[in-house]
Amino acid sequence: QPQPARQAPSEQAAPNSESLYRLLVEQQNDLIVKVDTEGRFLFVNPGYCTTFDKRAEELLGQHFMPLVHPDDRAATEAAIATLYRPPHRCYLEQRAMTRDGWRWFGWSDTAVLDEQGRVTAIIGTGRDIHEQKLAEFQLLRTQRLLELALESGNIGTYTADFTTGEVVVDDRYLAQLGYDPGEIRVNHDWWRANVHPEDLARFADQTEQVLFGGLDDFTAEYRFRHRDGHWVWLQDHARIYDRDPDGVALASSGLRIDITRRKEAELQLAHHAEHDPLTDLLNRRGMWRALRSIQAQSQRGRRPHAVAILDLDEFKRVNDTQGHLAGDRLLREIATLLRDNIREADWIARWGGEEFLILMPDTNLAQARRFIERLRQQIEATRFLSHEHPLRITVSAGLAVSRLAEDDSQDALVNRADHALYAAKEAGRNRVYTEADVAVQGD
Ligand code: GH3
Ligand code: MG
Ligand code: MG
Repeated sequence: QPQPARQAPSEQAAPNSESLYRLLVEQQNDLIVKVDTEGRFLFVNPGYCTTFDKRAEELLGQHFMPLVHPDDRAATEAAIATLYRPPHRCYLEQRAMTRDGWRWFGWSDTAVLDEQGRVTAIIGTGRDIHEQKLAEFQLLRTQRLLELALESGNIGTYTADFTTGEVVVDDRYLAQLGYDPGEIRVNHDWWRANVHPEDLARFADQTEQVLFGGLDDFTAEYRFRHRDGHWVWLQDHARIYDRDPDGVALASSGLRIDITRRKEAELQLAHHAEHDPLTDLLNRRGMWRALRSIQAQSQRGRRPHAVAILDLDEFKRVNDTQGHLAGDRLLREIATLLRDNIREADWIARWGGEEFLILMPDTNLAQARRFIERLRQQIEATRFLSHEHPLRITVSAGLAVSRLAEDDSQDALVNRADHALYAAKEAGRNRVYTEADVAVQGD
């Protein structure tokens, strides 16, 4: 319990200390005043006089309150009222009209008590806290705006300490993942364990650079496991704020935004751009992309890949006799049959109206022919549109295989398959022809 001052220090001091006290009080930048119980000045130090640009004689006997900002007077009075109760001390902040205009001061006030414990005077020590106060207001403003931004953007925040592995997260971070406030403690291992492994691998290089120097910002979009087990897409942006002398990251702060809806829309758009709506197989555009990537792979490995184009025989008759809708259903059933029977590594596209292209990586002509011939037989043996009017259909196919020659292109490869298909149709349909068969015929 702090003891109230019984008397002003200068009155109590031993004579040899008096000059020391005077020096202290007079050389102070702080303001020192003594007022009576009515608030009239009994003493003001030189610091006070300078601040308010007044001589001591002008002030002594006057009330201090007129110098205080009108908005701060009530609070000042309330604070002074507490000096009449133990511990007879208070701290208050107020603006006062100085020679430089309104400025903030922090005052520590102490009551002077007589032998009976009655307040006889008040001693106040004031300090100019104007710059501090402005910084405090600025900080408060920034904090409020930040809070508003985080809230309206539904942004979760975290601060990671890499030395302990601890991660401090806010409630929004947890809510994005379905957790209640305080439900789990987050650390680096937990984070790693819950990022989708494919995504974690995708930004491994970046993580390395951020942790060990060279890069201060980490940005990534990744899937993260929700409390219920499903994946949530997050956009994460973190910055390193502290490194050891070797440049190793010590701490970071980051923001996470749930972008699941945007990401799913993007993935769906990308899917639509490269797939056929009727059969959900790749469309031409998607297949050309597959062809380019398989070509690069095939050149590196110096292994051929094969292409087959399948065209349904006399498909017009189906439309004519069963109607266009039945034709569509048949196309879907053929697509399903093909999808269910191609090998894991093969790609399949709806290449035209009733044409399909199958791309077979790492496959030579003989292997491709055996495989496509099996598909042809399977289609021939299947009863489509089963319930009402079971329907038989046959297919003709043309096959070509990539060449290691520099000038062989995917265009040329597809053309050779197309020629072989044409030859198969010419030869009577329901058969598989290869580019070799065409060459023999052409000779
Ligand atoms: P072939 O190939 O044996 O020479 O005879 P085809 O009757 O199959 O003739 P072609 O390949 O030239 O004609 C393809 C027909 O497929 C033309 C069109 O009526 C039909 N077709 C194309 N796309 C669709 C589609 O999306 N739905 C339906 N129902 N029919 C389609
Ligand atoms: Mg046809
Ligand atoms: Mg056709």
